[in-house]
Amino acid sequence: MEVTKKDIRALTKEELRAFFVSNGDKAFRGNQVYEWLWNKAAHSFEDMTSISKETRKMLNDNFVINHVKVDHMQRSNDGTIKNAVKLYDGLIVESVLIPAATRTTACVSSQVGCSLDCKFCATARLKRMRNLNPDEIYDQVVAIDNQSRFYYNRPLSNIVFMGMGEPLMNYKNVIKAIDKITSPEGLGMSPRRITVSTSGVPKMIKKLADDEVKFKLAVSLHAALDDVRTSIMPFNEKFPLDDLREALEYWYAKTKSRITYEYVIWKGINDLRKDAEALVRFCRFAPSKVNLIEYNPIGDDQFKQAGNDAISMYQDLLERNGITVTVRRSRGKDIDAACGQLANKS
Ligand code: SF4
Repeated sequence: MEVTKKDIRALTKEELRAFFVSNGDKAFRGNQVYEWLWNKAAHSFEDMTSISKETRKMLNDNFVINHVKVDHMQRSNDGTIKNAVKLYDGLIVESVLIPAATRTTACVSSQVGCSLDCKFCATARLKRMRNLNPDEIYDQVVAIDNQSRFYYNRPLSNIVFMGMGEPLMNYKNVIKAIDKITSPEGLGMSPRRITVSTSGVPKMIKKLADDEVKFKLAVSLHAALDDVRTSIMPFNEKFPLDDLREALEYWYAKTKSRITYEYVIWKGINDLRKDAEALVRFCRFAPSKVNLIEYNPIGDDQFKQAGNDAISMYQDLLERNGITVTVRRSRGKDIDAACGQLANKS
């Protein structure tokens, strides 16, 4: 009978050290292998050249390294790179490298598909198949860091959890992945360069605050009136804006970290003055800034980018009320790599 081998990266450093001791070796060997697995991102035991052949064979007999593989890569005219990333069980998620003048950002996925149902989002059309493991999230970042060094001669500078899936619905694994990304034994990145973007799950926002996380929080708000938000993000019925506001106040009180609201203005949906006024009121609850994002069509007639008049109206009103606002042009549209477009189409 074939024995299913365990994924070695599911082991903590202590567990790895204990494994070597129980096999008559030194605990230190666990440190060496741990470094190969995380800091050097080894894809196979064969890569671990400082470890003896016998030990590598023993590891190979007992474990697997379920490394993800960039199955397919597309480059946009604006330099954006979209990766179709194959997981150990054959499922695919997407991740994106977004180069800019002074920074390179990785947009990574946290779930295969999504459990939420935002009407404007291509990922919502894929049912949620499973959560990503911490190492599958970590591997996406390593792959994009390598691409950034190869194509742009600089390391990755920022990470946004804005790919496929709702990160706070895969809380434990996202936190473990970020721990590894920020650890000196992993990539050693500063948590202030990481943004977790949520559609707004109040209970989990409070948990982030209680866990005293150091990364930044963004909320895909898109409407500050309950009826409008529920019509485009149906889960808002279960997690209404009052609950979200209360959770965000809690977040700010505990972390003192400003919140970013991601906001798309659609024609005939949220392009009226009353919508912008509601956003201004919502922004007053805690220090925040607003990113007005260009919409990336997903082949649905219901959602059309609002005209410049509506964008200016929002921008004026927010600025007059002392709220920082930026208007973001989209990147990677020609390869369906832009925000909300990730749906395994390549
Ligand atoms: S916008 Fe985010 S939370 Fe909403 S369905 Fe898409 S991936 Fe899920």
